Amino acid sequence: MLKKIEGIVIKTTDYGEANKILTIYSREMGKVGAVARGAKKPKNRFVSLSQPFTYGFFVCYFGSGLGTLQQGESIEHFRHIKEDLVLTSYASFVAELLDKGTEERVRNPFLFELFLQTLRYFNDGYDPDIIKNIFEVKMLPVLGLKPNFTGCTLCGQLTGPFVFSVKEGGFLCQLCSHHDPHHLSVSQATIKLLRLFSLIDITKIGSINVKEKTKKELELCISTYYEEYSGIYLKTKRFLKQLADLSLREE
Ligand SMILES: [Zn+2]
Repeated sequence: MLKKIEGIVIKTTDYGEANKILTIYSREMGKVGAVARGAKKPKNRFVSLSQPFTYGFFVCYFGSGLGTLQQGESIEHFRHIKEDLVLTSYASFVAELLDKGTEERVRNPFLFELFLQTLRYFNDGYDPDIIKNIFEVKMLPVLGLKPNFTGCTLCGQLTGPFVFSVKEGGFLCQLCSHHDPHHLSVSQATIKLLRLFSLIDITKIGSINVKEKTKKELELCISTYYEEYSGIYLKTKRFLKQLADLSLREE
């Protein structure tokens, strides 16, 4: 079956002497694998299409196993991401999370749009920490996880102040906070942002200006929650952490 899909390359793997296997996240079919024949040779017609984060149309032949790329045409190359090591690391992180958090050929146009917008925000110079955090929060339901970012997880109280409890999977009000002695006492700015990230339409993000302290708290809540429940280990995470440590030392 020959099919034209709109997708983004999330991973490339060498395959034999001359070929590459592209992992493409597509609007129509979700995640698919396709062989790009000859893509390792410098003059091959698939070279530019076979780069990570290339967004384009891919015409592939799909049988039962891997697809085979027949033709393609790129739409966007995200030049700023590709030219910047830090942005490449953030984009690689969300691409790896998308790859590890999804099965092949499960259609999810919402997730495709989320990933595409995330790359656009990275490319356009939005705060990559915040964009990454929004992606992570929006990815949770895809992984079958539904933390309560609305009100108290135990009694349902909707007005704060709240703390964040990894153990109870969401916010806890003052009265219930003793149920988890290891709760994270984060600022109410962090609580409001977690709620906002879970509700916001990714296409409608305006300028976001978040204090460093709040950013650290957001990262703490989200990464601790992921470590506890997602079962996903990301290779790219360590590299991002090293970059963060490096920038702290420069300050
Ligand atoms: Zn409560």
